[in-house]
Amino acid sequence: MRYISTRGQAPALNFEDVLLAGLATDGGLYVPENLPRFTQEEIASWAGLPYHELAFRVMRPFVTGSIPDADFKKILEETYGVFSHNAVAPLRQLNGNEWVLELFHGPTLAFKDFALQLLGRLLDYVLEKRGERVVIVGATSGDTGSAAIEGCKHCENVDIFILHPHNRVSEVQRRQMTTLFGENIHNIAIEGNFDDCQEMVKASFADQSFLKGTRLVAVNSINWARIMAQIVYYFHAALQLGGPARSVSFSVPTGNFGDIFAGYLARNMGLPINQLIVATNRNDILHRFMSGNQYVKDTLHATLSPSMDIMVSSNFERLLFDLHGRNGAAIAGLMDTFKQGGGFSVEQERWTEARKLFDSLAVDDAQTCETIAEVFEQTGELLDPHTAIGVKAARECRRSLDIPMVILGTAHPVKFPDAVEKAGVGKALELPAHLSDLFERDERCTVLPNDLKAVQAFVSQHGNRGKPL
Ligand SMILES: *Cc1c(COP(=O)(O)O)cnc(C)c1O
Repeated sequence: MRYISTRGQAPALNFEDVLLAGLATDGGLYVPENLPRFTQEEIASWAGLPYHELAFRVMRPFVTGSIPDADFKKILEETYGVFSHNAVAPLRQLNGNEWVLELFHGPTLAFKDFALQLLGRLLDYVLEKRGERVVIVGATSGDTGSAAIEGCKHCENVDIFILHPHNRVSEVQRRQMTTLFGENIHNIAIEGNFDDCQEMVKASFADQSFLKGTRLVAVNSINWARIMAQIVYYFHAALQLGGPARSVSFSVPTGNFGDIFAGYLARNMGLPINQLIVATNRNDILHRFMSGNQYVKDTLHATLSPSMDIMVSSNFERLLFDLHGRNGAAIAGLMDTFKQGGGFSVEQERWTEARKLFDSLAVDDAQTCETIAEVFEQTGELLDPHTAIGVKAARECRRSLDIPMVILGTAHPVKFPDAVEKAGVGKALELPAHLSDLFERDERCTVLPNDLKAVQAFVSQHGNRGKPL
């Protein structure tokens, strides 16, 4: 399988190189040159498979030529073996034909484990073969950091540095990162905000001289391998609900358009999906596009669903590429306009094409809390605020009651106690067994000023299993 850039000017790469790449050299994102397509018979024959075996069948075409089947199977069995629920991604019924797909039974209690547990293992496999080491420098507003560290903590060939804004992540989120020790694990609290952290990561990709030749790898969802891993659970859910004979709809709490883009790909690979709902919080750039064909930057709002607090959706470029007949020059032009401070609209027929599949809703904090309370009262299920946004959007935007509606349950409520408390649900939140002593564990973290040079100096001092690069 070959991968091409959404801006059309970077060389095509194979899977191995795309795994180790950040942005393409032309500033674009990598996508498969040709998407695999499965027949209905083939998909139907996967009903009842254990999660890792289904994952093998769905993802195999993407890694062909880079990872032999037997090795890939072994990696997948290990990856999904660490999840604490036998079904890996169980479905829970909320109402007639309405379901939550629980994606929070991984080590860090958010759906990011599905991709980052795999990414860590794939990196180690590929690096071992090549006899190389890499450095990861990632920024997190909460969930990505712990999932990336958990995914990479056993990697022999990876040193990971995660920047989080000092005193601006929740205590559970911070402890999930800072209580993981290893000579290749480095938590850095930046005296600044999340955007400052992200800017430092971007600047480090642009000028890598501080790494003295060691390769820098991306762990945010611009990395293709993350999107790839997320395609699997759409197949998994649909197969449980009568697919592919019956079509299914999904409502996806989204910020960077990563998770929902995976659903779009599942549909293009042959899975009958009737409707994909983009569920955002007040940071609603995607909703403004889907409802009014305006892709325009707004200011950042802090919400009760912080993992979706973004101003710009990086993966949206991957959808735009398809909507424009995969014309890289057109995308480069749009992104240029956007960068110069403008927003943009796309031609009417391209927007209409998108709207055949996508609907959207922006849900504010008050509605989020109302939905948490309402679902708790109706079912006894306690939702996290991101998932609650998905449920609210599903209920508002649903096209057909006859088609099963699956809401992606992106996090465990214990990660977001503020929202649960504000919702007034009188249920004590309990950490799952493997984290029950989280608040007693020692923490390890370095506080650094909001200064790129200081961060880069720290990385070069510790980037080789704690020793200088
Ligand atoms: C990261 C995250 C999201 C948003 O995912 P995208 O791929 O950026 O759309 C939603 N919910 C939770 C809990 C998350 O951690």
